[in-house]
Amino acid sequence: MYDYLIVGAGLYGAVFARQAKERGKTVLVIDKRPHIAGNVYTEEVEGIQVHQYGAHIFHTNNRQVWEYVNRFAEFNRFTNSPVANYHGELYSLPFNMYTFNKMWGVVTPQEAAEKIEEQKKAAGITEPENLEEQAISLVGTDIYEKLVKGYTEKQWGRPCTELPAFIIKRLPVRFTFDNNYFNALYQGIPVGGYTGMVQRMLDGIEVRLGVDYLEQKEELEWLARKVVYTGPIDAYFGYRLGYLEYRSVRFETEVLDTPNFQGNAAVNYTDRETPWTRIIEHKWFEFGRAADGSELPKTVISREYSSEWKPGGEPYYPVNDEKNGKLYAEYEKLAAQEDKVIFGGRLGEYKYYDMDAVIASALARVEEELSVK
Ligand SMILES: Cc1cc2nc3c(=O)[nH]c(=O)nc-3n(C[C@H](O)[C@H](O)[C@H](O)COP(=O)(O)OP(=O)(O)OC[C@H]3O[C@@H](n4cnc5c(N)ncnc54)[C@H](O)[C@@H]3O)c2cc1C
Repeated sequence: MYDYLIVGAGLYGAVFARQAKERGKTVLVIDKRPHIAGNVYTEEVEGIQVHQYGAHIFHTNNRQVWEYVNRFAEFNRFTNSPVANYHGELYSLPFNMYTFNKMWGVVTPQEAAEKIEEQKKAAGITEPENLEEQAISLVGTDIYEKLVKGYTEKQWGRPCTELPAFIIKRLPVRFTFDNNYFNALYQGIPVGGYTGMVQRMLDGIEVRLGVDYLEQKEELEWLARKVVYTGPIDAYFGYRLGYLEYRSVRFETEVLDTPNFQGNAAVNYTDRETPWTRIIEHKWFEFGRAADGSELPKTVISREYSSEWKPGGEPYYPVNDEKNGKLYAEYEKLAAQEDKVIFGGRLGEYKYYDMDAVIASALARVEEELSVK
């Protein structure tokens, strides 16, 4: 009999398992996938750490979380500076002085601010009724047309005029020459990949892979006093109240016989005509070098396509709208009646969590759990 059976070897499960183990508890971790690390899983291909479930850049303002992850990995100094490609015109992201200079030839912050104001005024939108009007009222027509419109329409699979205004509350605009996408105090990528980091979290902990909890629930639940479940909450209850919806992403990954395909980790394709939203070139997360510092002759790229999620497909981004919020609240009531089970993580709580937030949430939950025992 274990103290905890942890369903899911992603970040939530691994952090919970590590902390429980350090407090003398016995733990068994299972995952239905053939690997640990959940969606932050990275795999080495041609000497390159490939982010199999989408690019993951660790960034946080939470010092406790930063110190915690640094116990399990050394982080490099990677800074996320994506480039936008609009029909072959390249712009810096997030919107900053380099973007404005390229777009309008303006040189000073004042000129850039005036240009945006002028375009906002010319559009004359006072009460935005859809996402298009909202975006134009925030950044003017040029930035909207070239950098927001096509990308957003591909992400949501609908024209911006049919999307609600509230999706975009603000669009960050910087009047400095700063291409750092995140406003975070700490940022980087674990040297050698995320899988190694999670492996070290799970050091000394029993892990069984390729085991689906819901298929063997009867036998498995008796193995432990308590279960920590990080799978989809609606699946746990057999979808008895209906399906929670997600947006999904499809990745097409290729090895190319060239050392440098696009010169940057992320290039966003912001026009509507290019079918993919982004291309990730994985080697640039580690500055194009192998673990021993040597140059890598090949490269690995992933094209990302935003797609509709269908039941049975890989769930990525929870759709936090009113309909799904209400349904989740009903599932939460069912979950509250399961006194042997803790529901956690992005699928268990149906919540978009960045990595730092999911780690903070697991640390808080395990602390709460162990302090009452
Ligand atoms: C495309 C994409 C890009 C992202 N990029 C970033 C980024 O750049 N920076 C950032 O901070 N965050 C990013 N995130 C968020 C990050 O992926 C999450 O914060 C993190 O993975 C959540 O961890 P988790 O343990 O909750 O979930 P998961 O990693 O999904 O782990 C859950 C695990 O449970 C297992 N499981 C589910 N059901 C069962 C079952 N029935 N039986 C057994 N096992 C089961 C699954 O196989 C999975 O391994 C991104 C997310 C996505 C979708």
